[in-house]
Amino acid sequence: MTMKVFNSLSKKEEPFAPAADGTVGLYTCGPTVYNFAHIGNFRAYVFEDILRRTLEFNGWKVRQVQNLTDVDDKTIRGANAAGVPLADYTRPYKDAFFADLKTLNVEPAEVYPAATDHIPEMIALVEKLVEKGFAYKAPDGSVYFSVRKFPGYGRLAHIDFDSQQTGARCAGDEYDKENAGDFALWKAWEPSDGPVGWDSPWGRGRPGWHIECSAMSMKYLGETFDMHTGGIDNLFPHHENEIAQAEAATGKPFVRTWMHCAHLKVNGEKMSKSLGNFFTLRDLLAKGWSGREIRYVLINAHYRSSLNFAFDSLEDARKSLRRIDEATAKATDGEKPEWALRHLDDFSAAVNDDLNIPKAFAALFELVRETNSKGGAGVLGVFKRMDEVLGVVFFGKAAEEDVPAEITALLEKRAEARKAKNWAESDALRDEIAKAGWTVKDSKDGQSVSRRI
Ligand SMILES: [Zn+2]
Repeated sequence: MTMKVFNSLSKKEEPFAPAADGTVGLYTCGPTVYNFAHIGNFRAYVFEDILRRTLEFNGWKVRQVQNLTDVDDKTIRGANAAGVPLADYTRPYKDAFFADLKTLNVEPAEVYPAATDHIPEMIALVEKLVEKGFAYKAPDGSVYFSVRKFPGYGRLAHIDFDSQQTGARCAGDEYDKENAGDFALWKAWEPSDGPVGWDSPWGRGRPGWHIECSAMSMKYLGETFDMHTGGIDNLFPHHENEIAQAEAATGKPFVRTWMHCAHLKVNGEKMSKSLGNFFTLRDLLAKGWSGREIRYVLINAHYRSSLNFAFDSLEDARKSLRRIDEATAKATDGEKPEWALRHLDDFSAAVNDDLNIPKAFAALFELVRETNSKGGAGVLGVFKRMDEVLGVVFFGKAAEEDVPAEITALLEKRAEARKAKNWAESDALRDEIAKAGWTVKDSKDGQSVSRRI
């Protein structure tokens, strides 16, 4: 089976295979740890997880590197406002990020380099760019990359900067830069940076965001590697600048395949705090949705299409997962039947067709339908093989899903009300539990609850 993916660099679907020894080098831009990541961020991380799992499904090994941006304007502002060292400020958000990935059943990357642990590598890369004439020191001690010196600038974004910038003089408020498009590799220390700063050949300061990813990706994956991904927001200028920095320094191609996932919208609108439709993963968990329901919604749209996140889709995810759970409960190990293997072939073709997950789910539901009609003898292995990519089936773990503490508390109150034969109170509590998404059943053994479908 040939895997095909859409390469943002060529703007074409291309066959993909790793350059060497069956291992795919994959760099995925990670979070800025100044806050909890929101579901738009997680759409990108879950897309990257699907990519990783598909590569593994195809028999390749993956070496994935995902950076943690733990120094930038936002983290410095937050730390200084809180009056704590930068590392103390970012640590809880790093921990939360890893906990959230686990909730969403995202496979861990091989390396999670933090920017603050790689300052010498970034300084060395900036020095090389200055030496080669691609970068210059501005009067304030910052170092800028000169986009005019790098002929391929704009290749990823498909923008012709040469013609656009001819004759463009720097604006008055950008007096430190020679050209308005130049970007900072090193930022000189400012009083608002407080205690945050590192010594460098250009004086005290800190790295720019873009240099971080070029330095760390090349350190762990080599000067040329297979794949680099991110959200579409990263494409320009971040990824364009990464290419410029890396290729100007090494003279070699930086990345063979670039992949980007589209935006996430909530109820058809751009997610924003002011519209009240801004959600972190934790917000959704607090509303009673599970990690796998959220994962199901995040993966069940093609990654290059905008994803509209709505509570209806979570309801649908819950129902669909229940259908899958019911079918997998009937499935057994053993020789895989021919009819089930056909659905696996369809599934494999779909994921290898530029990660067409909606089509892959269609194959899974054909398997569910036929398992219900033909019985599940030998089908378990086929479900498990599909779930190597999807990561939402969980095989029985869902049945043990913890009942949230607030539901348990309501159930205890209700048991007491029933003991006191206070039926009105008992009914009121049943309604309250129902509103939270759970159904109570009474039997001679007492009450039991299940998630309402
Ligand atoms: Zn990056």
